[in-house]
Amino acid sequence: MIKVTLPDGSVREFSQGVTPMDVAKNISEGFARNVISANYNDTTIETSTPLTTDGTLTLYTWNDKEGKKAFWHSSSHVMAQTLEEIYPGIKLTLGPAIDNGFYYDVDFGDHKITDADFKKIEDRVLEISREKHEFKMRAVTKAEALEVYKNNEYKTELISNLEDGTITFCDHATFTDLCRGGHIPNTGIIKAVKIMSIAGAYWRGDEKNKQLTRVYGTSFPKQKDLTDYLELLEEAKRRDHRKLGKELDLFHFSQRVGQGLPLWLPKGAALRDRLEQFLKKAQKKAGYEQVVTPHIGQKELYVTSGHYAKYGADSFQPITTPAEGEEFLLKPMNCPHHCEIYNSRPWSYKDLPKRYAEFGTVYRYEQSGELHGLTRVRGFTQDDAHIFCMPDQLDTEFKNVIDLVLYVFGSLGFENFTAQVSVRDLNNPDKYIGSVENWEKAENAIISAAKDKGLNYVIEAGEAAFYGPKLDFMVKDALGRSWQLGTIQVDYNLPERFELSYKGADDKLHRPVMIHRAPFGSMERFIAILLEHTAGNFPLWLMPEQAIILSLSEKYEKYAKKVLDLLEIHEIRALIDNRNETIGKKIREAEMQKMPFMLIVGEEEEKNGTISVRRNGQEGKGNITVTIEEFVKIVNEEISKTLKQF
Ligand SMILES: [Zn+2]
Ligand SMILES: [Zn+2]
Repeated sequence: MIKVTLPDGSVREFSQGVTPMDVAKNISEGFARNVISANYNDTTIETSTPLTTDGTLTLYTWNDKEGKKAFWHSSSHVMAQTLEEIYPGIKLTLGPAIDNGFYYDVDFGDHKITDADFKKIEDRVLEISREKHEFKMRAVTKAEALEVYKNNEYKTELISNLEDGTITFCDHATFTDLCRGGHIPNTGIIKAVKIMSIAGAYWRGDEKNKQLTRVYGTSFPKQKDLTDYLELLEEAKRRDHRKLGKELDLFHFSQRVGQGLPLWLPKGAALRDRLEQFLKKAQKKAGYEQVVTPHIGQKELYVTSGHYAKYGADSFQPITTPAEGEEFLLKPMNCPHHCEIYNSRPWSYKDLPKRYAEFGTVYRYEQSGELHGLTRVRGFTQDDAHIFCMPDQLDTEFKNVIDLVLYVFGSLGFENFTAQVSVRDLNNPDKYIGSVENWEKAENAIISAAKDKGLNYVIEAGEAAFYGPKLDFMVKDALGRSWQLGTIQVDYNLPERFELSYKGADDKLHRPVMIHRAPFGSMERFIAILLEHTAGNFPLWLMPEQAIILSLSEKYEKYAKKVLDLLEIHEIRALIDNRNETIGKKIREAEMQKMPFMLIVGEEEEKNGTISVRRNGQEGKGNITVTIEEFVKIVNEEISKTLKQF
């Protein structure tokens, strides 16, 4: 008999040779029908692999990340089989599962694959799948493996790097592939497949090697899942922040200025400014003080901070002055500058905490291939702040920062988030700087703050930086994608390196602890995520313009102006479209510009002193005729739903 421990901690006994599928059936037949993959003692196995020792078993369904991985990995085998059938003589190389699907890198030789072939491939993959072939693992000797692949230099290279005795093949139907395992029980579970695209890819990612063709695909256990996924992709394309940024005139990239250096257009700059004012106001209430520091700093500064040793070689290189051989670096981080602000005078324990905030622009080199819209840039502005406090104040400071972050998320419509607390790896104490006592204090402070604030959090051991534990927020957007936003990081390292101190109640000098925090992360990345999350329909308080007045004809120009003046008195941001165009065209264009309210004025409205209001995105039911005062009330009510007082 062997003892099998399940994830809930329960232990069941089985005879030796029991398979994960047997265990699943023992739990429940219904559950077993959904099990597609398994893990035993931290090793991915097949659901048909006999278990011979005691161990811990995890069973996966499609709903688990590991289940999807097995599903897509198996699908890539079926696609490879299909490709071999359609293009005889091709050489298969590697075909892993990836996020949202799989790919296979293939040397097509003299064959040529095009988009027009995708349908044919999909049909054949489904045909094979319907035949319910089992995936069966088989151990082979190195010599056997090399013989099978004697005409495939890629697989030969892979096999050469493997130890004899550890090599396995996977068979299904008439197809065999070199494979480590981790498959679904049979091909019958694959009910929908889509070949997504083809791209060039160098063998092993090295441009000195031969260029292969990467065939991307995805597959699902239900046709509906595929339909939903393709719709999601379409929606993501419509919401792509690079596309919306152009349509809404927010930002621009100029090759002359340089790659990865966004230019903020007037509307985008106004949006940024509104976000900055919003955060500054909350920070002021939370006791932060604004500071300003230069965009460059002496190389020595970053040598002191340790950033130069760590990132210097991969960064923008030092700027040298014409004389004296001075060297400056573009600021990659604001923290060293803020440490020197702290160092500008002596502090007593009564003065702490000090909270310095800055919308600080930093520059980091990214390879041109890595750049992506506003999410990966070479120059960006962090909503940065550094809190210098006593170790005993960490607890309160952490709670206050969490409050601020939650306020930011709430005001911007991010309702779905989780938190990750990264702590030490207790088996590797030498990896970390700072006393054990302080680490314990800081970790406990973070965990108790997360608990206290009712956060949905997980603790990740070993994920802390060498200089301190941290808390990260993971936010889910409207398309269900996860983004890391809002980091709070404890730091024992920089206070040491910059010899920061304060005079304690005992009249002796002590080291303060430092907290780095940025609720947005960076303005650029945050606005990109917000654009994609809201599709450009930002919360009303943040919109560049909240209303547009559309006159039915030039005759009502004067009344339109009167409405505008009244709205301005009530601090509603509005503009007028008096062009001699049809009202239908004006409405369509205003909708394209994501204008929240369209206020139509004509004869009736002028006579009664009213406006006809149309709320973007609520065709028909949003159309009402109201007075200006009533409209002001509508706007303020909508704003107060998202934007609360901090
Ligand atoms: Zn495989
Ligand atoms: Zn920092």
